[in-house]
Amino acid sequence: MEFCPECGAMMLPNKGVLKCNSCGYTESSEKKEFKVKREIKSNQTVTNLGEDVDVGPVTNETCPECGNDKATYKLLQTRSADEAPTRIFTCTKCKHTWRAYD
Ligand SMILES: [Zn+2]
Ligand SMILES: [Zn+2]
Repeated sequence: MEFCPECGAMMLPNKGVLKCNSCGYTESSEKKEFKVKREIKSNQTVTNLGEDVDVGPVTNETCPECGNDKATYKLLQTRSADEAPTRIFTCTKCKHTWRAYD
């Protein structure tokens, strides 16, 4: 049960919003849910930062597209556990991505 933050009276659901019958204050329950969803989303972004191709260690690898000698890379484990992980490079200049095998 929700109570009006303005006057403390009981709030009743009315067409998707909570409405105070005493002073007319309304609170959208949809808005509340949206806010919670956004918070979860931003938390996930923080957790997944390491998987973003633009964020990673920079290495001296020459881009085959533009010749820039700086690229970020991340490791991608291949299907077979025996093989070395594939390195995915992303050019810091033109964002071209390519992979290299050891
Ligand atoms: Zn009220
Ligand atoms: Zn490039």
